[in-house]
Amino acid sequence: MTEYPQVEGSCLCGAVRFAVSLPSRFCAHCPCPNCRRAHGAAFVTWAGFREERVRLLAGESLLIRYLTERGATRSFWRQCGSTLFYEGPRWAGEIHVVLANLEGPIDREPSAHV
Ligand SMILES: [Zn+2]
Repeated sequence: MTEYPQVEGSCLCGAVRFAVSLPSRFCAHCPCPNCRRAHGAAFVTWAGFREERVRLLAGESLLIRYLTERGATRSFWRQCGSTLFYEGPRWAGEIHVVLANLEGPIDREPSAHV
């Protein structure tokens, strides 16, 4: 099996820990109203990975999965409020990870707003 560089990440309090394996599929800012509201921010920077490249290391059972009206899932951890993952039908087979929760650089810079 090929070894890909890994980057670890966590929520604010550290209860949820995960690792992503590069390469990513994209990295982009999203200023859509749903992301702004879900994250309490002007925009969210997402890094997209094939789902098998995202691995939970700790706290998987703590994740709250909010199913949106559009059939997407936004995962967060209620204790510290960190928003962590997005999975949507438009991007089947991908998990989008909040770039700010990663502890190191990934293989690309964020592209233009989507
Ligand atoms: Zn968005």
